Amino acid sequence: MISKVRTADDLFSCQRCGDCCKGYGGTYLTQSDMERISRYLGMRSERFMRDVCQMSGGKPVIAQAENGYCLLWDQQCTIHPVKPQMCRRWPFIESILVDTSNWHAMAAGCPGMRVDVSDDQIRKCVRAAIRKKIDSLLK
Ligand code: SF4
Ligand code: SF4
Repeated sequence: MISKVRTADDLFSCQRCGDCCKGYGGTYLTQSDMERISRYLGMRSERFMRDVCQMSGGKPVIAQAENGYCLLWDQQCTIHPVKPQMCRRWPFIESILVDTSNWHAMAAGCPGMRVDVSDDQIRKCVRAAIRKKIDSLLK
């Protein structure tokens, strides 16, 4: 049954299961992510690159631990206040506006994303969430 949703919070609620922090997909780091996280961890950038990151496709990503989780996962995200843009934006990303089947594909691995919602409602909420994020960055 299709449910009515009005806001991004109606559409997604993180269950803190950690599934999105596991498996090698690569959590890409922007320059400002790296500066923020290394400062939070009290590491110099060289040490941060050496001990926490690895390169993937020519870009830095957070390395994976032996248990398959992100190196910075320990029953929860250990850098939650400064986590990378990619993690903060999840699951409200532009590719969903291009094709809502991306929402359903992502939801297969994320129990916090509702799928009993029409494509139109998904698009509206995702667009509003992205807009809100851009506005907050511009402030
Ligand atoms: S997989 Fe989804 S519900 Fe689980 S921690 Fe990640 S964002 Fe939250
Ligand atoms: S930085 Fe935090 S939220 Fe992002 S993948 Fe690692 S543990 Fe998960």
